Amino acid sequence: MHNSSMFNIHLAKVYGFCRGVQAVSQLADELVDGEQRPVYSIGKLVHNDQVVKYYDERGLKVVTSPAGNVPGIALIRAHGITSEKRKEFEDAGFTLIDGTCRIVLANHAKCEKSCRPVLFFGIKGHAETLSTVDRLKVDYLIIENEEDLDAVDPSRKWNVVIQTTFSSLKAERFKAVLASRGVDFRCLNAICSASSRRREALLLLCGCCDTVLVVGDRQSANTMELYRIACQQDVRAYFVSCVQDITDEMLQCRDLGITAGASVSPRQVRDFLAFLKQRGGTVVQS
Ligand code: SF4
Repeated sequence: MHNSSMFNIHLAKVYGFCRGVQAVSQLADELVDGEQRPVYSIGKLVHNDQVVKYYDERGLKVVTSPAGNVPGIALIRAHGITSEKRKEFEDAGFTLIDGTCRIVLANHAKCEKSCRPVLFFGIKGHAETLSTVDRLKVDYLIIENEEDLDAVDPSRKWNVVIQTTFSSLKAERFKAVLASRGVDFRCLNAICSASSRRREALLLLCGCCDTVLVVGDRQSANTMELYRIACQQDVRAYFVSCVQDITDEMLQCRDLGITAGASVSPRQVRDFLAFLKQRGGTVVQS
């Protein structure tokens, strides 16, 4: 193992906030900087408690219902909300700002137009699943696991809509099962490439580093997936949520790679880099 206190820092080519989260956090910044009225986010803005805490300290309170809260401005996060939830807030006197990711909105529009019944491949109970199936005017089934496919009537013609962050492996398997059962279906959308682009960038990073830090929050599925992938490569992989998690052992390296999940803010990554530079690291172009 390299024993010097000097090491190179390599940043993944793609890391941190995806476009949808970047856009909603920009809206959150504008709200906390400019609004006098109480400002809220409907549900946690991202699966990252440090980002939630950062906004909470600046006045953006997380709420799940209008009950017990003074009406103000409520931000809809990237996953979107159901029309029932929207009405609940509006009826209670709240003004809503829509931060639903454009890709999720495009899926909403496809659902609204679907004339065929829909198989929605997604996580049951997930906010995006709820907001998307809410747009449907036709029958639907939520398919989270392979057993759920047993409820699909093969005599009907179906449309398939996939949750933007659903596992691509699972989606392909589900499609293969449907095809093998002779089900007539058309797939209306693709999985968002944000997660796969971060995974591909991580693999490249692992090729030029001996140690990799995956920055994020354990609640975030895409960050945990990055960590799982890093652990399978020929590097020492560590999961870190804050600079306090960094140990001396982690910095016993020559080339240190940094990646971050889609819910990690640029500010958090900057904090990590500042800390690592103080500890002898130099950022290099990979
Ligand atoms: S992962 Fe993709 S679909 Fe989901 S919020 Fe980010 S950019 Fe939008």
